[in-house]
Amino acid sequence: MPLIPLRVLLDHAAENGYGVAAFNVNNMEQIQAIMAAARKTDSPVIVQASRGARKYTNDAYLRHLMLAAVELNPKLPMVMHQDHGNSPETCFSAIEQNFTSVMMDGSLDEAGKTPSTYEYNAQVTRQVVDRAHAVGVSVEGELGALGGLEDGHGAGLTQEEVKLHLTDPDQAEKFVAQTGVDALAVAIGTSHGAYKFSHKPTGDILKMDLIEEIHRRLPDTHLVMHGSSSVPQELQDTINKYGGKIKQTYGVPIEQIQRGIRHGVRKVNVDTDNRLAMTAAIRQVFSESPEEFDPRKYLGPARERMQAECERRMTAFGQAGHAGKVPTRSCKEMVTFYKNRKK
Ligand SMILES: [Zn+2]
Repeated sequence: MPLIPLRVLLDHAAENGYGVAAFNVNNMEQIQAIMAAARKTDSPVIVQASRGARKYTNDAYLRHLMLAAVELNPKLPMVMHQDHGNSPETCFSAIEQNFTSVMMDGSLDEAGKTPSTYEYNAQVTRQVVDRAHAVGVSVEGELGALGGLEDGHGAGLTQEEVKLHLTDPDQAEKFVAQTGVDALAVAIGTSHGAYKFSHKPTGDILKMDLIEEIHRRLPDTHLVMHGSSSVPQELQDTINKYGGKIKQTYGVPIEQIQRGIRHGVRKVNVDTDNRLAMTAAIRQVFSESPEEFDPRKYLGPARERMQAECERRMTAFGQAGHAGKVPTRSCKEMVTFYKNRKK
């Protein structure tokens, strides 16, 4: 099956009331872990690459790894998504590299460090939508700003500052009408990275009710939760047991994500949990078998540990069992869909 656009998968997810995890990748073992988890749970897949990942893999390695994943998994629908495009140029270059979906994050300026104005955001996002939809590629936008940093991208807002940059439902309505995005990332109090919350989040810091309000106003827009790793205690403990130094931290509880999925959340970004899983496995091998120096002996277990995390998310978000049911519409077929919508 060729790569499919994000829109096709999220439309199916909306019709059937499930969410889809979007996992970040940087290397072969991560892609293999995701695909193995998808095979085991019969799940459709969203693989995403940040600008940092594209730089790290030189684009060509990533593109060919994705082609290998498609070749080896002909029955699994897959989306390849640009995570946090900082400029229209980044999104356009992703489209040239066969990505079937791009995120234009105009909520920050091009350097990816400072919250931008609404006008700038709407303008760059519209520009990307026009060009992406002309070739059937899906677009995710973002309104509001998250805390923390993701691959150096982010305003580095603290938990207090995040409260000032939550998504405004009025603005969300206007933004979707002006830009025509397929999916919208919303800021509801989460942060990128491992250090999200200093205690288990309650309703006053994790604004799930905001998601419900935005979904009520925009029932046809697919909502995206960023910074949605759960940061499992067991992984923090394993890392620290084997010489790591992770300060006690709390992520977004799975049951809160499931609540989001009941209210329009269709894409859930998960990166930190997989990073922690791989690190835990590698630390354990290094600590228990210090004589080991064959990379397969620690990258293999790292891959297995990440696969287990991916399986858990796929099952919890409800995408498991849906691989064979997602329509296989190509980007080319989506060109007509967008043309008809414009009329
Ligand atoms: Zn993000």
